[in-house]
Amino acid sequence: MPLLVMKFGGTSVADLSRIENAAKKVQAEVARGYDVIVIVSAMSGETNRMVGYVEGTSKLYDAREYDAVVSSGENVTAGLMALRLQEMDIPARSWQGWQVPINTTSAHGSARFIDIPRANIDAKFAEGFKVAVVAGFQGISAEGRITTLGRGGSDTTAVAFAAAFGAERCDIYTDVDGVYTTDPRIASKARKLDRIAFEEMLELASLGAKVLQTRSVELAMRYKVRLRVLSSFEDTDENSGTLVCDEDEIMESKVVSGVAYSRDEAKMTLVTVEDRPGVASAIFGPLAEAGVNVDMIVQNISEKNYGSHTGAVTDMTFSVPVNQVDRAQKAMEDARAAGIIKYDELISDTDVAKVSVVGIGMRSQVGVAAKMFNALAAENINIKVIATSEIKISVLIDRKYMELAVQALHDCFDLDKA
Ligand code: ADP
Ligand code: ASP
Ligand code: MG
Repeated sequence: MPLLVMKFGGTSVADLSRIENAAKKVQAEVARGYDVIVIVSAMSGETNRMVGYVEGTSKLYDAREYDAVVSSGENVTAGLMALRLQEMDIPARSWQGWQVPINTTSAHGSARFIDIPRANIDAKFAEGFKVAVVAGFQGISAEGRITTLGRGGSDTTAVAFAAAFGAERCDIYTDVDGVYTTDPRIASKARKLDRIAFEEMLELASLGAKVLQTRSVELAMRYKVRLRVLSSFEDTDENSGTLVCDEDEIMESKVVSGVAYSRDEAKMTLVTVEDRPGVASAIFGPLAEAGVNVDMIVQNISEKNYGSHTGAVTDMTFSVPVNQVDRAQKAMEDARAAGIIKYDELISDTDVAKVSVVGIGMRSQVGVAAKMFNALAAENINIKVIATSEIKISVLIDRKYMELAVQALHDCFDLDKA
């Protein structure tokens, strides 16, 4: 039997009628002759609610118990989806991660897949079951504890199942009808893309476009999964939505194909750090040990010595997710107290956002950065930090200008036009 993976996100299973709507989409594929693995998220809002319960109970919580709690939303929707399918006379059953089993590392809260043995689910298909409804976002560690894959992780569950079971396609049903040039919720001119290259999608996702979890795109790219994003609220067929595919399956390629943003960033600066070999390692070592996710890093050595400092000094600026500022601050203060680093002051700016432009066309085109900076200047937006790679340029700006910046960049690269 040909097999499909269909994943339904939180808003697509937000209540019983939406679960029924999603089940009808599954029914249509079964009628076309597919066996289906359905991956479900928790009902929208549920995971946040449970994260709140954990944080309200314990500040420095045990991550194993966090996973035990926050994984449970998916168990509810998996069971309800299986029941709804049974009501439609479709032989279906639910699977929690441990029942498959979905074997993961024991990095609680951000576990990674080790393997997904097919035997149990294959045996059920062989018995005549048409649909396996699998709880997304969760797995089990070698220690026998429940794990979760990080926020948005059901996307990754879906792609991993598509790879493990050799699915014809992995369809991600969500509350928008595809991948857009930018988040359609903040730019009304955003345009839906029929196709997007894996590498561009990977950059957009990792720079904040939450339509797909970054890791899901990585897996799809590695295992050549045909990955599609489409609406669970509209009538869809095999041409709907956006196909995430290899670069050479795309005819036209613009220099910039999308704009991404990440709202909750913070910029931290260590003022007057010594300029000598080993300083960067003395700073970022303790940050890594404290589990801080450092993103952009800028060091600019002053050509002149200043203040009372006798040797060469530099400022070191880096960005972190805003909810890790306290942890980063503590790591730096501890390192200073232990004599590992010296600095005069640590300045934290917690009102910044990151805005990025992405496009594989940038590899061969000059002047993209100049054009981007020009568009921001025209809106009087000050750039605080810049980072570039082969196919993206990111800037850190004041958060209050984030939406304006996204719209200005969308306009300046003509992304509303095909
Ligand atoms: P789900 O619950 O189905 O997993 P998510 O909320 O995780 O859905 O992801 C879908 C959301 O991603 C959309 O509602 C949209 O606001 C946001 N989004 C951000 N960037 C983009 C983009 N470039 N294209 C489409 N959606 C985007
Ligand atoms: N329910 C989880 C979350 O909200 C996983 C997912 O929906 O993909 O992050
Ligand atoms: Mg999601």
